[in-house]
Amino acid sequence: MKKRIAILGATGSIGAQALDVIAQHPHCFEVEVLTAHRNVDLLVQQARQWEPNAVVVADEDLYLTVKQALSRLPIKVFAGAKALAEVVTLPGVDIVLNALVGISGLLPTLAAIKAHKTVALANKETLVVAGSLIQSLMLQNGGRLLPVDSEHSAIFQCLAGEISPVEKIILTASGGPFLHTPAAELSTVSPSQALQHPQWNMGAKVSIDSATMMNKGFEVMEARWLFDVAPAQIEVLVHPQSVVHSLVQFADGSLKAQLGVPDMRLPIAYALSFPERLPLNSARFDFLQNGQLSFFAPDVQKFRCLQFAYDALRMGGVAGCTLNAANEVAVQAFLEQKIAFTRIPALLEQCLAHCETIAQPTLQDFLEVDSKVRREAQESVAASHS
Ligand code: NDP
Ligand code: MG
Repeated sequence: MKKRIAILGATGSIGAQALDVIAQHPHCFEVEVLTAHRNVDLLVQQARQWEPNAVVVADEDLYLTVKQALSRLPIKVFAGAKALAEVVTLPGVDIVLNALVGISGLLPTLAAIKAHKTVALANKETLVVAGSLIQSLMLQNGGRLLPVDSEHSAIFQCLAGEISPVEKIILTASGGPFLHTPAAELSTVSPSQALQHPQWNMGAKVSIDSATMMNKGFEVMEARWLFDVAPAQIEVLVHPQSVVHSLVQFADGSLKAQLGVPDMRLPIAYALSFPERLPLNSARFDFLQNGQLSFFAPDVQKFRCLQFAYDALRMGGVAGCTLNAANEVAVQAFLEQKIAFTRIPALLEQCLAHCETIAQPTLQDFLEVDSKVRREAQESVAASHS
């Protein structure tokens, strides 16, 4: 039977690659829902090609544009953030691929878990913001959260068939575009330089997160919640070739790793077809052409954001939510050339230092803290910009 997929963030990097995977296996999947934020041209084009049951445009002002463009087709059109969380619960949806960016992914993830849908999660911010809430909801509700992030997919693949506890998780990191840039030069790097990732072609936000290594920090937090391990059991290793996608170490000292060329279609396909594997037409890794794989420790003095993730996990409560909100504002401000690259970690540090203490935050707490931290971070950006 075909699996029916809702792709949240269909017009983005992960969304488009998911459609490419589905196009290679039309007999396995059906596209049930497609969503975009503002890129209505691509959303309409995708909807005409795939004829989903429903589409959502998150920006409500664009509802009529999409509605009119699809008026001759039997496709339901919805708009707004609320519709994003509702559409995942449609009875025709088997798997929700959450490829939204930032906190916009949180409510749809929660709604999908509550509706007992399988969630293929690319939106790591869901777990960074509210990992504790997601974990307790999963315990209550059951359900399945399948990783799409390449490192977490690697770990998930290494854990297949294992029943013994994990001793350590080793997340690999490419190191981003500034791996070899002297720390003193980071204050003058431009958004276009920061967007040039050496190994992956990704959306703007995650590309900047990779350049600051906040992305790797977020992945440490994502691993903590996905695999229920202590932060001290998660180590980061810089591996510039991005061939070893991550490793798991067991109590007997055995290490398992998952390798392959850097291509997000592999982890996307694995999440959509789990527990099976589907053939993919992507390139194969050739050991003889790539004789050298290197590994070294990250420079946490230069990339302070990595340390902030461990700090936020230790602080617990709403610290992850605080870190994420500050980071979303900082990344946007850097992309708009309002702040220097090195102001990103400075702003995160400032917001974390003022983090509220809430022992067992509810969804309402997370949403309120998100708004408050955004306001503070925006004020701080405005003050430094004027
Ligand atoms: P993109 O920026 O390329 O795409 C984001 C998608 O979400 C687009 O469809 C966009 O719509 C939509 N969107 C953006 N903001 C909102 C909003 N406020 N409300 C509703 N929809 C919104 O991101 P990526 O595909 O690169 O990343 C998606 C997620 O996957 C992120 O969490 C990222 O960290 C994670 N990830 C990405 C990887 C990659 O290789 N790209 C690798 C591993 C993880 P529109 O096009 O209309 O703006
Ligand atoms: Mg990753």
